Amino acid sequence: MDAIRCEVCGATQSLPSLEPRRRALCFRCKSEVARGPTLSLDAPLALCLAALIFWALANSIPFITLEYGGIIQTNRVFTGVTALWMDHQYFLSVLVGMTSIAIPGLQLSLACGLMLALRRGVSGGRLRPLSRLLAFIAPGSMPGVYLVGAFVAAVKLSQLATLTPGPGLYCFGAFALLWVIGLGSLDLEGVIEDFRPRRSGR
Ligand SMILES: [Zn+2]
Repeated sequence: MDAIRCEVCGATQSLPSLEPRRRALCFRCKSEVARGPTLSLDAPLALCLAALIFWALANSIPFITLEYGGIIQTNRVFTGVTALWMDHQYFLSVLVGMTSIAIPGLQLSLACGLMLALRRGVSGGRLRPLSRLLAFIAPGSMPGVYLVGAFVAAVKLSQLATLTPGPGLYCFGAFALLWVIGLGSLDLEGVIEDFRPRRSGR
């Protein structure tokens, strides 16, 4: 509890510490006496940028290596999508490619772009279309499903072949984890409404 004196009527009142986006009004004259802390974008931005880096790495280095009958085959994240396509499972191929790879990457890029724009002082109102697009594509983003699918496939294939996890698998795991924490910690509506960039010299 902090004792705060109203600058308008002089009444002193005790206030609990306020959460972001909360305002406290004077009990006597109803003028604003305190405001919750400004939302910070540092943590969600750092997490989303790290997730984006791991997303790029996971898509460019070997995901898993299969060895059967003296044949060694190195697979990347996209191998599963192309294998489904070659197997004429076009719908499943597009679904896996979109929900596991394309949309999460687009979602993270848009979220990072939006946060960087807010930090540079672009008004929340001008970024509304971007935040609406983010909210629209969010339900189609589920990289965790790919990890579960890969795990199930690995368990089944392990009876036929020797499987060696590649660095891409760990990168994909790190990307999925950072994606959950980074986007989960981003209160999009809150930052659009309330975020104010820190001005130098104040
Ligand atoms: Zn007052």
